[in-house]
Amino acid sequence: MKLNELELSVDYFQFDEKFYQKLESTPLNNPHLISYSKSACDLIGLDYSSCESESFVAFVNGENVLKGSVPYAMAYAGHQFGYFVPQLGDGRAVNLGSINTWHLQTKGSGLTRFSRQGDGRAVLRSSIREYIMSEHMHALGIPTTRALAIIGSTHPIYRAYDDIETGAVVMRMSPSWIRIGTFEYFARGKNAEENLRKLADYVIKQSYPHLENEENKYEKFYCELVEKTAKLLAKWQAYGFMHGVMNTDNMSVAGLTIDYGPFAFMDNFEMDCICNHTDMEGRYSFSNQPEIARWNLEVFAFILGKICSFKKLVGYLKSFISIHQKEYLKLMNKRLGLDINLSSDNNIDLVISLLESLEKAKIDYNCFFYRLSKLENLNDISSITDISIFRESIFEWFKEYKKVIKNQNQDFKKMKDLMKTVNPKFIIKNYMLQEAIEKAKNGDFKLTNDLLFIAQNPYLEHKEYERYSNPTPMEHANIQLSCSS
Ligand code: AMP
Ligand code: MG
Repeated sequence: MKLNELELSVDYFQFDEKFYQKLESTPLNNPHLISYSKSACDLIGLDYSSCESESFVAFVNGENVLKGSVPYAMAYAGHQFGYFVPQLGDGRAVNLGSINTWHLQTKGSGLTRFSRQGDGRAVLRSSIREYIMSEHMHALGIPTTRALAIIGSTHPIYRAYDDIETGAVVMRMSPSWIRIGTFEYFARGKNAEENLRKLADYVIKQSYPHLENEENKYEKFYCELVEKTAKLLAKWQAYGFMHGVMNTDNMSVAGLTIDYGPFAFMDNFEMDCICNHTDMEGRYSFSNQPEIARWNLEVFAFILGKICSFKKLVGYLKSFISIHQKEYLKLMNKRLGLDINLSSDNNIDLVISLLESLEKAKIDYNCFFYRLSKLENLNDISSITDISIFRESIFEWFKEYKKVIKNQNQDFKKMKDLMKTVNPKFIIKNYMLQEAIEKAKNGDFKLTNDLLFIAQNPYLEHKEYERYSNPTPMEHANIQLSCSS
């Protein structure tokens, strides 16, 4: 369909007006298209050619409001770094309505009632990061919100005192934008229980429709969310993804990765890696992520427990760690080419010793797996030791690996076939995004678009970008990013 044929629908105005604000976006100056995602277009049936038009840029910039669309910002609360903040909300995001179950939202489109001290804007660098990464996560099979397009502008934005940046807008799409923090907001004030019930019904209809007519539907919804989140975290951990700001307002009640900020994919493996510069204590360190997700779900249990059995919710929550571990080991076995059914303990010792030895060796995490899946045989592991700063632990680990393979009578050739389905050649690292950002700042969007293509097709060869399949250059590895976006 052409852009002007799309028709959106809004379903949020059933709630009291204190939970949202109807508003108009504040357009950026001199907007221009940087990139659009064909794969995201397909989800809403939008013609690619429409995305090249001026009216598409105007649409992303909030100047062209589609049929049926009534823009609004949502209120939410949240626990930020463990402390409750009663008033947050879409401070720079505007919801436009949904099509084909995809709720469209622009990020960076001006002030809202929930902007607090913020300027309602998103800078180019953080917008490019979110745009590419959400599409990459999807390609890796990790549940996530998506991105349809990104526009840039000449609009000046002030973040650091000595640097003027420019504003951008990402058109994001998600089956749901409801967060644990949304429930935290609805749980306060008059008629809290009634409001919570309404919100829970809305979320069930949106993301758990099979539960709509079930008895104890709120408890079942929570139970499924525990499972989805435990599995989501298993995927993050297996691929070395760090979110960076796992506040409850950044936790989806549909089990998706949302709100990309100072995230990173692990460069050299480091169990306690902290990717967020402002996270002094490492609350959101790599190793803490699963426990933090569980903690966030516990906060949710206290809220949802107001309208159903808190005791039952806590019971479901107890299964979080075991679901998470099982899924994590399943993925890690696959990444090692091992058949989990042949092991009585899911090869847990082998996986733990792998992590220890990768950390000792100071080796690029995802490159290790890619190179493992490319080995000719297990007698020559030089392609792996060549990228290890310290080799001893790698040699030691391979002895264990070979033992397991022998005991389970596995064939390395077949193992490689399995590995190739889960060990991509490319994982988008922060330094690659930074290169695309530098170019984009100078008006050159080719690398942004090329990187998007690699991000969406990480298992393809992309010969001209071979260097991106190598370990992150030393000077760029494990660098922390700030929240200022
Ligand atoms: P985040 O840490 O990006 O998830 O944001 C936390 C809260 O701050 C959310 O309510 C955001 O909408 C709000 N926020 C972040 N940056 C801005 C900004 N530049 N202008 C207005 N609100 C913002
Ligand atoms: Mg957020």
